[in-house]
Amino acid sequence: MIDFLAQARELFPYTQTLRRDFHMHPELGFREIRTGGIVAKELESLGIEVTKGVGRTGVVGLLEGARPGPTLLLRFDMDALPILEETGAEYASQKSGVMHACGHDGHTAIGLTVAKMLNAHRDQLTGTIKFCFQPSEEGNNGEEVGGAEMMMRDGVLDSPKVDMTLALHLWNEKPLGWLGVAQGPVMAGADIFSVKITGKGGHGAIPDATVDPVVAAANIVNALQSIVSRNVAPLETAVVSVTMIHGGTAFNVIPQEVVLEGTIRTFDSGVRQKVVERFEQIARGVGEGLGCQIEVDIKRLTPALVNNDSVTAQVQETARRVLSESNLDTAGYITMGAEDMAFMLEKVPGCFFFIGSNDKVRHLDYGHHHPKFDFDEEALVRGSALMAAAAMDMLSGNNS
Ligand SMILES: [Zn+2]
Ligand SMILES: [Zn+2]
Repeated sequence: MIDFLAQARELFPYTQTLRRDFHMHPELGFREIRTGGIVAKELESLGIEVTKGVGRTGVVGLLEGARPGPTLLLRFDMDALPILEETGAEYASQKSGVMHACGHDGHTAIGLTVAKMLNAHRDQLTGTIKFCFQPSEEGNNGEEVGGAEMMMRDGVLDSPKVDMTLALHLWNEKPLGWLGVAQGPVMAGADIFSVKITGKGGHGAIPDATVDPVVAAANIVNALQSIVSRNVAPLETAVVSVTMIHGGTAFNVIPQEVVLEGTIRTFDSGVRQKVVERFEQIARGVGEGLGCQIEVDIKRLTPALVNNDSVTAQVQETARRVLSESNLDTAGYITMGAEDMAFMLEKVPGCFFFIGSNDKVRHLDYGHHHPKFDFDEEALVRGSALMAAAAMDMLSGNNS
Protein backbone atom coordinates (compact mmCIF):
# COMPACT_ATOMS: atom_id res chain seq x y z
CA MET A 1 0.00 0.00 0.00
CA ILE A 2 1.28 3.46 -0.94
CA ASP A 3 2.36 5.63 2.01
CA PHE A 4 0.75 8.90 0.97
CA LEU A 5 1.66 10.67 4.21
CA ALA A 6 5.37 10.01 3.63
CA GLN A 7 5.06 11.09 -0.01
CA ALA A 8 3.18 14.27 0.89
CA ARG A 9 5.88 15.07 3.44
CA GLU A 10 8.58 14.52 0.83
CA LEU A 11 6.73 16.89 -1.51
CA PHE A 12 6.22 19.52 1.21
CA PRO A 13 8.87 21.95 -0.16
CA TYR A 14 6.97 21.90 -3.49
CA THR A 15 3.60 22.45 -1.76
CA GLN A 16 4.94 25.21 0.48
CA THR A 17 6.66 27.05 -2.37
CA LEU A 18 3.45 27.03 -4.39
CA ARG A 19 1.30 28.08 -1.42
CA ARG A 20 3.56 31.00 -0.54
CA ASP A 21 3.75 32.10 -4.16
CA PHE A 22 -0.06 32.07 -4.46
CA HIS A 23 -0.25 33.88 -1.12
CA MET A 24 2.04 36.66 -2.35
CA HIS A 25 0.05 37.02 -5.58
CA PRO A 26 -3.62 36.72 -4.58
CA GLU A 27 -6.39 37.18 -7.15
CA LEU A 28 -10.09 37.90 -6.61
CA GLY A 29 -12.91 35.70 -7.91
CA PHE A 30 -13.01 35.20 -11.70
CA ARG A 31 -9.65 37.03 -11.97
CA GLU A 32 -7.45 34.00 -11.17
CA ILE A 33 -5.43 34.41 -14.38
CA ARG A 34 -1.94 34.06 -12.91
CA THR A 35 -2.98 31.34 -10.44
CA GLY A 36 -4.86 29.39 -13.13
CA GLY A 37 -1.87 29.75 -15.45
CA ILE A 38 0.46 28.17 -12.89
CA VAL A 39 -2.06 25.41 -12.23
CA ALA A 40 -2.33 24.63 -15.95
CA LYS A 41 1.44 24.67 -16.41
CA GLU A 42 2.05 22.34 -13.46
CA LEU A 43 -0.64 19.88 -14.59
CA GLU A 44 0.66 19.93 -18.19
CA SER A 45 4.19 19.26 -16.97
CA LEU A 46 2.85 15.99 -15.54
CA GLY A 47 1.30 15.06 -18.88
CA ILE A 48 -2.23 15.65 -17.60
CA GLU A 49 -4.73 16.83 -20.22
CA VAL A 50 -5.76 20.41 -19.33
CA THR A 51 -8.78 22.52 -20.27
CA LYS A 52 -8.67 26.21 -19.39
CA GLY A 53 -11.47 28.74 -19.21
CA VAL A 54 -14.03 26.40 -17.62
CA GLY A 55 -16.31 28.76 -15.65
CA ARG A 56 -14.33 31.85 -16.78
CA THR A 57 -10.96 31.30 -15.04
CA GLY A 58 -11.36 27.69 -13.88
CA VAL A 59 -8.92 24.95 -14.91
CA VAL A 60 -9.72 21.26 -15.35
CA GLY A 61 -7.16 18.46 -15.58
CA LEU A 62 -8.03 14.91 -16.61
CA LEU A 63 -5.93 12.02 -15.34
CA GLU A 64 -6.86 8.67 -16.86
CA GLY A 65 -6.00 5.64 -14.79
CA ALA A 66 -4.55 2.44 -16.22
CA ARG A 67 -7.98 0.77 -16.27
CA PRO A 68 -11.40 2.23 -17.06
CA GLY A 69 -13.74 2.93 -14.16
CA PRO A 70 -15.71 5.69 -12.47
CA THR A 71 -14.82 9.38 -12.66
CA LEU A 72 -13.91 11.14 -9.42
CA LEU A 73 -13.83 14.94 -9.33
CA LEU A 74 -11.43 16.59 -6.85
CA ARG A 75 -12.25 20.23 -6.32
CA PHE A 76 -9.88 22.98 -5.10
CA ASP A 77 -10.83 26.67 -4.94
CA MET A 78 -8.34 29.36 -5.99
CA ASP A 79 -9.77 32.81 -5.15
CA ALA A 80 -8.70 35.42 -2.59
CA LEU A 81 -10.63 38.14 -0.73
CA PRO A 82 -10.75 41.95 -0.83
CA ILE A 83 -8.92 42.33 2.51
CA LEU A 84 -5.79 44.31 3.40
CA GLU A 85 -3.38 41.75 4.85
CA GLU A 86 -1.94 42.40 8.33
CA THR A 87 -0.01 39.18 9.00
CA GLY A 88 3.45 40.69 8.50
CA ALA A 89 4.54 37.32 7.11
CA GLU A 90 7.56 37.20 4.81
CA TYR A 91 5.23 35.79 2.15
CA ALA A 92 2.50 38.42 2.76
CA SER A 93 0.36 39.64 -0.13
CA GLN A 94 2.14 41.93 -2.56
CA LYS A 95 -1.18 43.19 -3.84
CA SER A 96 -2.60 45.84 -1.54
CA GLY A 97 -6.20 45.16 -0.52
CA VAL A 98 -6.27 41.58 -1.80
CA MET A 99 -5.47 38.64 0.47
CA HIS A 100 -5.71 34.88 0.73
CA ALA A 101 -7.57 35.04 4.05
CA CYS A 102 -9.54 31.81 3.69
CA GLY A 103 -6.75 29.35 2.87
CA HIS A 104 -7.60 28.83 -0.81
CA ASP A 105 -3.89 29.40 -1.60
CA GLY A 106 -3.31 26.25 0.45
CA HIS A 107 -6.12 24.39 -1.31
CA THR A 108 -4.64 25.14 -4.75
CA ALA A 109 -1.18 24.01 -3.59
CA ILE A 110 -2.68 20.84 -2.11
CA GLY A 111 -4.47 20.17 -5.41
CA LEU A 112 -1.25 20.31 -7.41
CA THR A 113 0.55 18.12 -4.85
CA VAL A 114 -2.26 15.56 -5.04
CA ALA A 115 -2.03 15.62 -8.85
CA LYS A 116 1.70 14.90 -8.65
CA MET A 117 1.16 11.96 -6.27
CA LEU A 118 -1.76 10.38 -8.12
CA ASN A 119 -0.05 10.84 -11.48
CA ALA A 120 2.92 8.89 -10.15
CA HIS A 121 0.57 6.01 -9.33
CA ARG A 122 -1.73 6.17 -12.34
CA ASP A 123 -0.93 2.50 -13.08
CA GLN A 124 -2.92 1.62 -9.94
CA LEU A 125 -5.94 3.78 -10.76
CA THR A 126 -9.15 2.19 -12.00
CA GLY A 127 -11.05 5.16 -13.39
CA THR A 128 -10.46 8.81 -14.09
CA ILE A 129 -9.58 11.72 -11.83
CA LYS A 130 -10.91 15.11 -12.82
CA PHE A 131 -8.93 17.86 -11.11
CA CYS A 132 -11.19 20.86 -10.78
CA PHE A 133 -9.51 24.16 -9.90
CA GLN A 134 -12.42 26.46 -9.21
CA PRO A 135 -12.59 30.25 -9.36
CA SER A 136 -14.67 32.58 -7.20
CA GLU A 137 -15.85 30.48 -4.27
CA GLU A 138 -16.30 33.57 -2.09
CA GLY A 139 -19.13 35.07 -4.11
CA ASN A 140 -20.32 36.04 -7.56
CA ASN A 141 -17.92 38.98 -7.86
CA GLY A 142 -20.06 40.79 -10.38
CA GLU A 143 -21.13 37.70 -12.33
CA GLU A 144 -24.56 36.12 -12.25
CA VAL A 145 -23.40 33.08 -10.26
CA GLY A 146 -20.34 31.97 -8.28
CA GLY A 147 -17.47 29.72 -9.37
CA ALA A 148 -18.97 26.28 -8.73
CA GLU A 149 -22.17 27.07 -10.63
CA MET A 150 -20.22 28.77 -13.41
CA MET A 151 -18.09 25.64 -13.91
CA MET A 152 -21.23 23.47 -13.83
CA ARG A 153 -22.78 25.66 -16.56
CA ASP A 154 -19.67 24.96 -18.61
CA GLY A 155 -20.18 21.23 -18.11
CA VAL A 156 -17.55 20.37 -15.49
CA LEU A 157 -19.73 17.48 -14.27
CA ASP A 158 -20.10 16.04 -17.82
CA SER A 159 -17.89 14.29 -20.42
CA PRO A 160 -16.71 12.28 -18.73
CA LYS A 161 -19.69 12.30 -16.39
CA VAL A 162 -18.61 12.71 -12.77
CA ASP A 163 -19.68 9.86 -10.45
CA MET A 164 -18.22 11.02 -7.13
CA THR A 165 -16.52 14.06 -5.72
CA LEU A 166 -14.22 15.13 -2.89
CA ALA A 167 -13.23 18.57 -1.60
CA LEU A 168 -11.56 19.92 1.51
CA HIS A 169 -11.12 23.07 3.56
CA LEU A 170 -8.21 24.01 5.82
CA TRP A 171 -10.00 24.91 9.05
CA ASN A 172 -8.60 27.46 11.49
CA GLU A 173 -11.50 27.04 13.92
CA LYS A 174 -9.75 23.81 14.94
CA PRO A 175 -6.15 22.90 15.84
CA LEU A 176 -3.71 21.04 13.62
CA GLY A 177 -4.36 17.33 14.10
CA TRP A 178 -8.13 17.67 14.12
CA LEU A 179 -10.01 16.25 11.13
CA GLY A 180 -13.70 16.79 10.45
CA VAL A 181 -15.19 14.08 8.24
CA ALA A 182 -18.91 13.84 8.90
CA GLN A 183 -21.93 12.40 7.14
CA GLY A 184 -25.01 14.45 6.30
CA PRO A 185 -25.27 18.24 6.33
CA VAL A 186 -22.05 19.94 7.45
CA MET A 187 -22.40 23.50 6.20
CA ALA A 188 -25.48 25.69 6.12
CA GLY A 189 -27.40 26.87 3.11
CA ALA A 190 -27.32 30.65 2.79
CA ASP A 191 -29.98 33.07 1.58
CA ILE A 192 -29.61 36.82 1.27
CA PHE A 193 -32.63 39.05 1.77
CA SER A 194 -33.71 42.65 1.40
CA VAL A 195 -36.94 44.25 2.60
CA LYS A 196 -37.90 47.59 1.10
CA ILE A 197 -40.30 49.50 3.37
CA THR A 198 -41.97 52.44 1.66
CA GLY A 199 -43.98 54.90 3.75
CA LYS A 200 -44.77 58.54 3.33
CA GLY A 201 -42.06 60.96 4.38
CA GLY A 202 -42.55 64.29 6.09
CA HIS A 203 -41.65 66.54 9.01
CA GLY A 204 -40.32 64.84 12.12
CA ALA A 205 -42.61 67.03 14.22
CA ILE A 206 -45.77 66.18 12.29
CA PRO A 207 -45.80 62.35 12.34
CA ASP A 208 -49.55 62.14 11.92
CA ALA A 209 -49.16 63.45 8.36
CA THR A 210 -46.67 60.69 7.51
CA VAL A 211 -46.48 56.90 7.27
CA ASP A 212 -43.28 56.21 9.19
CA PRO A 213 -41.10 53.44 7.66
CA VAL A 214 -38.59 53.67 10.58
CA VAL A 215 -41.19 52.51 13.09
CA ALA A 216 -42.29 49.81 10.66
CA ALA A 217 -38.67 48.67 10.20
CA ALA A 218 -38.15 48.45 13.98
CA ASN A 219 -41.28 46.34 14.37
CA ILE A 220 -40.34 44.08 11.47
CA VAL A 221 -36.83 43.46 12.86
CA ASN A 222 -38.34 42.50 16.21
CA ALA A 223 -41.09 40.33 14.77
CA LEU A 224 -38.60 38.42 12.57
CA GLN A 225 -36.96 37.14 15.77
CA SER A 226 -40.00 34.99 16.41
CA ILE A 227 -39.30 32.82 13.34
CA VAL A 228 -36.38 30.96 14.92
CA SER A 229 -37.87 30.98 18.43
CA ARG A 230 -41.52 30.16 17.54
CA ASN A 231 -41.72 28.63 14.04
CA VAL A 232 -38.60 26.45 13.75
CA ALA A 233 -38.82 23.24 15.79
CA PRO A 234 -36.55 23.28 18.86
CA LEU A 235 -34.33 20.47 17.53
CA GLU A 236 -33.94 22.06 14.09
CA THR A 237 -31.59 24.97 13.34
CA ALA A 238 -31.89 28.25 11.50
CA VAL A 239 -30.45 31.75 11.66
CA VAL A 240 -32.23 34.96 10.66
CA SER A 241 -29.90 37.96 10.94
CA VAL A 242 -30.82 41.49 9.93
CA THR A 243 -27.36 42.99 9.36
CA MET A 244 -28.12 46.30 7.65
CA ILE A 245 -30.71 49.05 8.18
CA HIS A 246 -30.60 51.93 5.72
CA GLY A 247 -32.90 54.93 6.02
CA GLY A 248 -33.09 58.59 6.91
CA THR A 249 -31.07 61.72 6.14
CA ALA A 250 -31.82 64.27 8.88
CA PHE A 251 -32.93 64.41 12.54
CA ASN A 252 -36.15 66.23 11.72
CA VAL A 253 -37.21 64.32 8.61
CA ILE A 254 -39.25 61.14 8.59
CA PRO A 255 -37.86 59.30 5.55
CA GLN A 256 -39.83 57.94 2.66
CA GLU A 257 -38.11 54.60 2.67
CA VAL A 258 -36.09 52.17 4.82
CA VAL A 259 -34.27 49.08 3.51
CA LEU A 260 -33.39 46.07 5.67
CA GLU A 261 -30.84 43.50 4.51
CA GLY A 262 -29.37 40.36 5.97
CA THR A 263 -28.99 36.62 5.75
CA ILE A 264 -30.89 33.40 6.46
CA ARG A 265 -28.98 30.16 7.20
CA THR A 266 -30.55 26.69 7.27
CA PHE A 267 -29.52 23.04 6.87
CA ASP A 268 -32.80 21.42 5.89
CA SER A 269 -34.78 22.38 2.79
CA GLY A 270 -38.10 21.97 4.64
CA VAL A 271 -36.90 24.29 7.41
CA ARG A 272 -35.66 26.76 4.80
CA GLN A 273 -39.02 26.80 3.07
CA LYS A 274 -40.81 27.44 6.34
CA VAL A 275 -38.41 30.24 7.34
CA VAL A 276 -38.72 31.93 3.94
CA GLU A 277 -42.53 31.68 4.05
CA ARG A 278 -42.79 33.09 7.56
CA PHE A 279 -40.25 35.78 6.73
CA GLU A 280 -42.40 37.07 3.87
CA GLN A 281 -45.62 36.86 5.89
CA ILE A 282 -44.17 38.72 8.87
CA ALA A 283 -42.39 41.44 6.89
CA ARG A 284 -45.46 42.06 4.77
CA GLY A 285 -48.04 41.64 7.57
CA VAL A 286 -46.29 43.90 10.07
CA GLY A 287 -45.24 46.51 7.51
CA GLU A 288 -48.61 46.74 5.82
CA GLY A 289 -50.37 46.78 9.17
CA LEU A 290 -48.41 49.94 9.89
CA GLY A 291 -49.45 51.46 6.56
CA CYS A 292 -46.28 50.85 4.53
CA GLN A 293 -45.73 49.15 1.20
CA ILE A 294 -43.43 46.16 1.47
CA GLU A 295 -41.20 44.53 -1.12
CA VAL A 296 -39.42 41.36 -0.01
CA ASP A 297 -36.60 39.86 -2.06
CA ILE A 298 -35.00 36.59 -0.90
CA LYS A 299 -32.25 35.04 -3.02
CA ARG A 300 -30.63 31.68 -2.44
CA LEU A 301 -26.83 31.96 -2.39
CA THR A 302 -25.98 28.32 -1.75
CA PRO A 303 -27.89 25.24 -0.65
CA ALA A 304 -26.82 23.39 2.50
CA LEU A 305 -23.71 21.28 1.95
CA VAL A 306 -24.69 17.65 2.47
CA ASN A 307 -22.16 14.81 2.52
CA ASN A 308 -23.07 11.42 1.07
CA ASP A 309 -23.08 8.68 3.73
CA SER A 310 -21.16 5.95 1.90
CA VAL A 311 -18.51 8.21 0.29
CA THR A 312 -17.96 9.84 3.68
CA ALA A 313 -17.64 6.46 5.41
CA GLN A 314 -14.88 5.61 2.91
CA VAL A 315 -13.03 8.86 3.60
CA GLN A 316 -13.30 8.19 7.34
CA GLU A 317 -11.77 4.74 6.82
CA THR A 318 -8.93 6.23 4.77
CA ALA A 319 -8.35 8.93 7.42
CA ARG A 320 -8.10 6.32 10.19
CA ARG A 321 -5.42 4.49 8.23
CA VAL A 322 -3.42 7.37 6.71
CA LEU A 323 -3.66 9.93 9.52
CA SER A 324 -3.98 7.52 12.41
CA GLU A 325 -2.45 9.99 14.88
CA SER A 326 -5.14 12.54 14.14
CA ASN A 327 -8.17 13.43 16.18
CA LEU A 328 -10.87 12.31 13.74
CA ASP A 329 -14.23 13.95 14.39
CA THR A 330 -17.07 12.04 12.73
CA ALA A 331 -19.77 13.19 15.13
CA GLY A 332 -21.42 15.55 12.74
CA TYR A 333 -19.26 18.66 12.96
CA ILE A 334 -21.36 21.42 11.45
CA THR A 335 -20.87 25.10 10.80
CA MET A 336 -23.30 27.88 9.84
CA GLY A 337 -20.76 29.04 7.25
CA ALA A 338 -21.62 28.39 3.60
CA GLU A 339 -19.67 26.88 0.67
CA ASP A 340 -20.55 26.76 -3.01
CA MET A 341 -19.26 23.19 -3.29
CA ALA A 342 -22.80 22.50 -2.03
CA PHE A 343 -24.04 22.96 -5.64
CA MET A 344 -21.84 20.13 -6.91
CA LEU A 345 -22.78 17.93 -3.94
CA GLU A 346 -26.44 18.41 -4.81
CA LYS A 347 -25.74 16.67 -8.14
CA VAL A 348 -22.98 14.18 -7.27
CA PRO A 349 -22.44 12.07 -4.12
CA GLY A 350 -19.33 13.16 -2.32
CA CYS A 351 -17.60 14.31 0.81
CA PHE A 352 -16.37 17.74 1.91
CA PHE A 353 -13.97 17.44 4.82
CA PHE A 354 -12.09 19.80 7.12
CA ILE A 355 -8.38 19.79 8.04
CA GLY A 356 -7.69 21.47 11.39
CA SER A 357 -4.98 24.08 10.77
CA ASN A 358 -4.58 26.48 13.68
CA ASP A 359 -1.55 26.72 15.94
CA LYS A 360 -2.21 28.87 19.00
CA VAL A 361 1.40 28.91 20.18
CA ARG A 362 2.58 30.50 16.94
CA HIS A 363 -0.51 32.78 16.83
CA LEU A 364 -1.69 31.12 13.64
CA ASP A 365 -5.23 30.99 14.95
CA TYR A 366 -7.07 33.98 13.55
CA GLY A 367 -10.41 33.08 11.98
CA HIS A 368 -11.11 32.82 8.29
CA HIS A 369 -11.48 36.22 6.54
CA HIS A 370 -9.49 38.00 9.30
CA PRO A 371 -6.66 40.32 8.08
CA LYS A 372 -4.22 38.31 10.24
CA PHE A 373 -5.46 34.91 9.07
CA ASP A 374 -2.66 32.38 8.58
CA PHE A 375 -2.40 28.63 9.23
CA ASP A 376 0.12 25.96 10.21
CA GLU A 377 1.56 24.75 6.89
CA GLU A 378 1.87 21.21 8.28
CA ALA A 379 -1.87 21.06 7.51
CA LEU A 380 -0.91 21.12 3.82
CA VAL A 381 0.86 17.78 4.26
CA ARG A 382 -2.15 16.23 5.99
CA GLY A 383 -4.63 17.61 3.49
CA SER A 384 -2.58 16.39 0.52
CA ALA A 385 -2.08 12.93 2.03
CA LEU A 386 -5.73 12.42 2.92
CA MET A 387 -7.05 13.70 -0.40
CA ALA A 388 -4.66 11.57 -2.48
CA ALA A 389 -5.19 8.43 -0.37
CA ALA A 390 -8.98 8.81 -0.36
CA ALA A 391 -8.99 9.25 -4.15
CA MET A 392 -6.78 6.19 -4.60
CA ASP A 393 -9.00 4.13 -2.27
CA MET A 394 -12.11 5.19 -4.20
CA LEU A 395 -10.56 4.28 -7.55
CA SER A 396 -8.65 1.18 -6.48
CA GLY A 397 -11.11 -1.04 -8.30
CA ASN A 398 -12.38 -2.71 -5.15
CA ASN A 399 -15.28 -0.42 -4.54
CA SER A 400 -17.11 -0.26 -7.85
ZN1 LIG B 1 -14.00 32.06 2.85
ZN1 LIG C 1 -13.05 29.17 1.94
